Amino acid sequence: MSFLSLLTGSFSQGAAENPTVAMIEAAFRHHGIDARYVNCEVPPEGLADAVRGARAMGWAGFNCSIPHKVAVVEHLDGLAESAAVIGAVNCAVLRDGRLMGENTDGQGFMASLRTVVDPEGKRLVVFGAGGAARAIAVEAALAGAGPITVVNRDRGRGAELVALLRERTPADVELVAWDGAYGVSAQADVVVNATSIGLFPDVGARLPLDPDSLLPGMIVADVIPNPPRTALIADAEARGATVLDGLGMLVNQGVISIRHWTGLDADPAVKRRTVEELFGLPDRAG
Ligand code: NDP
Repeated sequence: MSFLSLLTGSFSQGAAENPTVAMIEAAFRHHGIDARYVNCEVPPEGLADAVRGARAMGWAGFNCSIPHKVAVVEHLDGLAESAAVIGAVNCAVLRDGRLMGENTDGQGFMASLRTVVDPEGKRLVVFGAGGAARAIAVEAALAGAGPITVVNRDRGRGAELVALLRERTPADVELVAWDGAYGVSAQADVVVNATSIGLFPDVGARLPLDPDSLLPGMIVADVIPNPPRTALIADAEARGATVLDGLGMLVNQGVISIRHWTGLDADPAVKRRTVEELFGLPDRAG
């Protein structure tokens, strides 16, 4: 019998609002893994020491959230392919004594997307060009999706993402500067809101988008986890589109982190139930 648990956790500021600890520990309990996930409030000036501490204590790895996703890179020993392209890390993993950086934001989204479609050759419209949009667009492009249309309010930020995708991935990409209600092309297969529009507390906020351009046969995904049922999800569902909410991305990120740290394929349904209970949502599949 061993009394030494496997240690994991998270370094962020605003850690008290992050539900990941509840989700990951529920999965550890469900699968009988003797592991802990320690949710740590770490200011920017404490990040280097936090990473040194994790190394000294033999942590299997840790998540990084706001504001450390880019800053943590210099404290790691190397990066996985997509994390290197995205330029940000949200999951560090100890492999053969080296702390390697992964980015599970886009991977979590892709796992959620793959529950309804194979992304290869699919036409994507991505709203936003921030961290979440970058991660999603890079993973989708590396998985063979395309053409990809990036729609962003700030043209400069949108152009940076488009340049990155053209330089580092094989995808065919175009930029649309978002100005007024956007009409989605009838040829689009997957439409993704990767902006922060709709995030609590601004829960009724709508994307500047013609909802009637969302058609049955399209897949409409939202990254917003809180609340998961956004105005976009409701509008898309009302028009017969297949919808994916932000909890799917969140839950699958947890599944991928656990796989990185323990090698175990955790059951996403356990995590989904845990976060649904946290958000006071009715029990439903997805
Ligand atoms: P960033 O701040 O990096 O980017 C925000 C993006 O939203 C930018 O493209 C910005 O456009 C756009 N945006 C914000 N407000 C508006 C608006 N009123 N009109 C048009 N565009 C707008 O944030 P992140 O990319 O890190 O996060 C985005 C969202 O993704 C957050 O709500 C976060 O909660 C969610 N997220 C969800 C995850 C999950 O697992 N479900 C994981 C990670 C993030 P502009 O460039 O013009 O300013």
